[in-house]
Amino acid sequence: MGAAAPAQRVLLGEGRSHRRTLFAGTHHRCLGSQRGLPYSAHRGKKSVNRQALDDLKQQIPLMGYLQAHDWNPARPLSRGRWMGLCPLHGDHKPSFLVDPNKDLFYCYGCGRGGDVIRFAELYHQVKFPQALMLLRQWRGAEPVLHEAARFYRIQLHRHSEAVAYLYQRGVRSPELIEHMRIGYAPGGCLRGWLTQLDHSLPALRQAGLVTGLGYDAYVRRIVFPLEGNLYGRSLSAAAPPHRFLPGAKGGLYSWKQAQSYPEVILVEGLFDYAALWQAGFHNVTCSLGTHLNARQFRQLCDGPRTVYLTFDADRNGSGQQAAQCLSRSLRERGITARLVSLPDGHDPNSFFVGGGNAQEFQRLLERAYL
Ligand SMILES: [Zn+2]
Repeated sequence: MGAAAPAQRVLLGEGRSHRRTLFAGTHHRCLGSQRGLPYSAHRGKKSVNRQALDDLKQQIPLMGYLQAHDWNPARPLSRGRWMGLCPLHGDHKPSFLVDPNKDLFYCYGCGRGGDVIRFAELYHQVKFPQALMLLRQWRGAEPVLHEAARFYRIQLHRHSEAVAYLYQRGVRSPELIEHMRIGYAPGGCLRGWLTQLDHSLPALRQAGLVTGLGYDAYVRRIVFPLEGNLYGRSLSAAAPPHRFLPGAKGGLYSWKQAQSYPEVILVEGLFDYAALWQAGFHNVTCSLGTHLNARQFRQLCDGPRTVYLTFDADRNGSGQQAAQCLSRSLRERGITARLVSLPDGHDPNSFFVGGGNAQEFQRLLERAYL
């Protein structure tokens, strides 16, 4: 870190002009300048209003956005700045500097830096206009999703069919329901509640909570809040079982908690997660399907660990195939991956619901193969 110190001083310590020089080439040239020039947007077709960009940046403080994307400040520096592991490259000792007062970041490892827009570009691997769109969606959807999740949680204990369904899926402990913030969408009452709280109908439609015709999108579904989304599991066999709101499914479920364990159990469904968590395995995380997005894969690789892949033992072998494919990719990145074999036709949830206990599951983990 010694060699980096002078750059650090210039970078975020002194005036604007130095910063502009250092960030030149990492982001749009006029960023950080006081001139009122518009950005020249995508191929010059449409200019992006500078004021709108400044407003967007003001409404999404960099630190909050980073933390919502699992970044942890590891070490405080002078003038309120923080160092932590870089979320943009495989970082082993903190090289990612954040200045919350200036809303800027810089990584001494990969040499990239800029503002929250630049971060969104790099993090989601998208171009500038898409990064703006993602940030706008994030800004708009966050409060209303939070409110919807709160409403659904209140509904859970008012609807016996929801509690009965959870019971049947083995979800029984109040601590687990609290930990996963599980709710219930009866249907037909969310829109009224949210509009009464001054959320506009177009905003509800944009978040996907309300359909184009104005009905609640989730009807008779158990709801689990995710990062920037809500997963809904249908109680009714007539509806598609799994649903997400439009937009990304986010990172690995509850990764912040699982991340610190040297051994992590990865499952594909939230009811699998619930069963394991309730059985005392708190080093569990969930990819919400067998296909990991780039972000989830990066998370699994963000430090040395062993990953126990515990996908469903489907009779057609699709879960096992996905697990084998993932274990190869993990090994290429230096992560130890072990495949857990469940009894035929079982997933971790049905294993426990069918009478399996923690000792038996522990034995399956011990028998997991490379
Ligand atoms: Zn980096």
